[in-house]
Amino acid sequence: MSSPVVSSRNVLKRNSMRFVAALMAVLAGFVAGPNAALDAAPQHRDQVPGFYRLKVGDLEVTALYDGTGVFDPHWLNGTKATMDGVAKAQHEDPHMLDVVDTGFLVNTGKHLILVDAGAGTWWGGGALGRLAGSLRSAGYAPEEVDIVLVTHLHSDHVGGLTTQDGKRVFPNADVYVAKAESDFWLSAEIAAKAPKDAQPFFQSAQAIAAPYIKAGKWHAFTGSEQIVDGMQLVPLPGHTPGHTGYEFSSKGQKILFWGDIIHAQRVQLQHPEVTAIFDIDQTAAAATRHQLLSKLAGEDVLIAAPHTSLFPALGRLHKEGSGYSWVPVVFTDQWDENH
Ligand SMILES: [Zn+2]
Ligand SMILES: [Zn+2]
Repeated sequence: MSSPVVSSRNVLKRNSMRFVAALMAVLAGFVAGPNAALDAAPQHRDQVPGFYRLKVGDLEVTALYDGTGVFDPHWLNGTKATMDGVAKAQHEDPHMLDVVDTGFLVNTGKHLILVDAGAGTWWGGGALGRLAGSLRSAGYAPEEVDIVLVTHLHSDHVGGLTTQDGKRVFPNADVYVAKAESDFWLSAEIAAKAPKDAQPFFQSAQAIAAPYIKAGKWHAFTGSEQIVDGMQLVPLPGHTPGHTGYEFSSKGQKILFWGDIIHAQRVQLQHPEVTAIFDIDQTAAAATRHQLLSKLAGEDVLIAAPHTSLFPALGRLHKEGSGYSWVPVVFTDQWDENH
């Protein structure tokens, strides 16, 4: 009764068996051990290059990843209640004091400007120092940078400028730093009087600056100079004597490179009074942070913050309760021309 169906099934089965046999014979001719090849696929154990670009008016801004570290809670000065809260929060989230180190490129169409240079080999014990590689991955060469603006002379911001054997990493760049900053760290007299654990900061600043000074490429500004069109100097003293922000404007959009206003984002935005042991003038550092955060929360300005918790270290600030919240720029592989 059902024989036509059964017989056609049998034909089909026979045909498909023949087909499989033929296919196996062909494959055997040029594929040896496909399973062995699948088993051997190596794990890559690396990540994508560390850069992220966006537009600010006509400016192309590229965040350059230098590395990630962990901020030690003992480097923070706060009230016992605040620091107890930090310890508790860190117990619940061991990554809450993770901190990136970041430099930034600004291509104005006329100048290629680097704002802070990462640590190079001068700080971070090998965890930092990726900036020059990130810059190359972003399609630029160190020789193309013609201006370097540094927020201050701590080695996690200027270490990337100079190799350990005293060579300039950015041979065609003029380096700009506040005079108060340059005078402080490069003074043999002040260095001699500084506490022993501060000595390495003086030594690294002097060694990093030396080849640029020798080449006539080290420029200390007092504040009245116009270094780049569309860029304003923003004095932010306290963390160091000449700590300076750089604010660029283009087509009504603004970006502020604020240096070390924040080291522990998830503590200091909620508690701007908490300082870091690296702040040379603790009172001034806290006052500067209070004033700046309050001002920025009321403005539409993008912030480039070298030490946020997350790369690309760009975001905006909002008022939240008695403190502030951070709205990060989120990494994407999409290019938005009108960002
Ligand atoms: Zn610093
Ligand atoms: Zn820093």
